[in-house]
Amino acid sequence: MIIEDIALAKNILMQGNLLAIPTETVYGLAANAFDVAAVAKIYQVKNRPHFNPLILHSNSLERFTHWGIHLPESALLLAKAFSPGPITFVVPKSDAIPDLVTAGQDTVAIRIPKHPQTLQLLASLDFPVAAPSANLSGTVSPTSAQDVEAQLGPQIAAVLNGGRCMVGLESTIITFAGGIPKLLRLGGLSIEKIEQVLNQTLDKTMLINNENPQAPGMLSRHYAPQTPLYLDAAENHLGEASYAEMVFIGFKQKHPKIIGSNQIILSESGDYAEAAQNLFAAIRKADTLGKKLIIAELLPEENLGLAINDRLKRAAVKAQI
Ligand code: AMP
Ligand code: MG
Repeated sequence: MIIEDIALAKNILMQGNLLAIPTETVYGLAANAFDVAAVAKIYQVKNRPHFNPLILHSNSLERFTHWGIHLPESALLLAKAFSPGPITFVVPKSDAIPDLVTAGQDTVAIRIPKHPQTLQLLASLDFPVAAPSANLSGTVSPTSAQDVEAQLGPQIAAVLNGGRCMVGLESTIITFAGGIPKLLRLGGLSIEKIEQVLNQTLDKTMLINNENPQAPGMLSRHYAPQTPLYLDAAENHLGEASYAEMVFIGFKQKHPKIIGSNQIILSESGDYAEAAQNLFAAIRKADTLGKKLIIAELLPEENLGLAINDRLKRAAVKAQI
């Protein structure tokens, strides 16, 4: 059920039920973080492994402080610059936060999402919500209320409609657990912007990617469409499919051989933010065309191109060794 009413949304959460919420990154599947039975439903509905912790969402840093969560200086600097926004801080956990939220870790991930209805909803609650992306584990994250409804509708109380997500990629995650800030996940806020505010290069040794897997759930085809997606040249696949049986997802230019109606361009003007906003919808659309395979083009490795490429690599079929 897609709803517009924030008072109704609040009631759903207060009763311990699941509500999908709009954010600027992707739609989240929210539950009262202090209600362990409600949090357990998130793992169950998403079929999410229990070792994969959840991000806590609220509307201000003061609220998190009230729940015993404190940010170190460098995190405060970033929060001042970018929160509300697509950045998540991993910091020491407080006793108020159930172990189920943090998957037993002594750190907790917190974020203030930048979305008017959700900020209003969060401000009206006397608890934070735990909210991973509102999709089945391993599938493409939802960027509209309709995406959520199509996949999880019958299993959750409601989806609060907040339109299309403006950023379209999950948040950038920085951990402050070891003293110096370290990048854990590439996301909707570019590294360049973060480094500018910190006035230092970010430590990227903890980055979760295919070359350096830190968490089993982050390995291999995490954003997988049903149709096999490849990142190499279309020419390499002519043995499996003709050009008419291929879909192309490109950054700014069309593929010269694949037919026009099978082409999805992320941003004709070459704008990274626009490409990020369109990425997950493009993967979904490519999948629904029902062709034999999808060829996707990697973006330049800068700005949001890094995070977009990270998601494309996870969506792709891995080369067989
Ligand atoms: P999702 O909301 O589905 O995009 O996933 C949330 C991400 O946050 C996961 O990749 C987690 O590994 C990460 N995360 C949440 N809490 C922590 C934590 N305490 N330490 C490290 N990573 C975390
Ligand atoms: Mg997710």
